[in-house]
Amino acid sequence: MLLESGATYRCVLSEQPWDHVELDSKPYPVKMELLLPPALPTKIVAVGLNYLEHVVEMGHEKTKEPVLFLKPPSALLNPGGKILYPPSSERVDYEAELAVVLKTRLRNATPEEALKAVGGFTCCNDVTARDLQKVDGQWIRAKGFDTFCPLGPWLVTDFLEKDQKIMTRVNGEIKQNSRISSRVWNTAQLLSFASKVMTLEPMDVLITGTPPGIGPMNPGDHVEVEVEGIGILKNEVVRPA
Ligand code: MG
Repeated sequence: MLLESGATYRCVLSEQPWDHVELDSKPYPVKMELLLPPALPTKIVAVGLNYLEHVVEMGHEKTKEPVLFLKPPSALLNPGGKILYPPSSERVDYEAELAVVLKTRLRNATPEEALKAVGGFTCCNDVTARDLQKVDGQWIRAKGFDTFCPLGPWLVTDFLEKDQKIMTRVNGEIKQNSRISSRVWNTAQLLSFASKVMTLEPMDVLITGTPPGIGPMNPGDHVEVEVEGIGILKNEVVRPA
């Protein structure tokens, strides 16, 4: 689904299967065959260490400013798509994150201006090859493999950040269970900060950090990232042939 300037989309969270979207209050049926990631970004801006308990579990100190990094658009994976476990890693982790997709360009924005540029919110799994992250000392390879950015299942345009739950389940077992109010910086603050570094384009994605409880996924695992009020992003991990 593409964002059009001035149009208002709402994905309707009805009984499964997901059956229609509303565009400017008119319903449009959706045939549920394959959902694509709900954005075609020029870049995916990511934020590390944005939940204090996660900062502690990683053995870091709280930072004075957000820690930004980038994931390549080639890492995007659709809801239901398969996360490919790279042969060069022996430890691949899930990271549940609230993601935001822009509808207008943003540069040098205040937090208030940033919120007006938001097209909608969705779920992301910031898949990370943890062993390679430690070896490399920077995060491009560890965060950048193809399929390492599952995004979806859809874009929610009327999501208001409050105290919503954010969770990861692996094979049905809860692994991360937190609330987005535990973040150090909220979405408006992060977008404002990032926009003072780089111009953010329509469809660009910002993912807002992961709560505590990170851990490994293995081939054959079924992983779910859920943000209350948005939905559940489901993916399977597989070892490439
Ligand atoms: Mg992350």
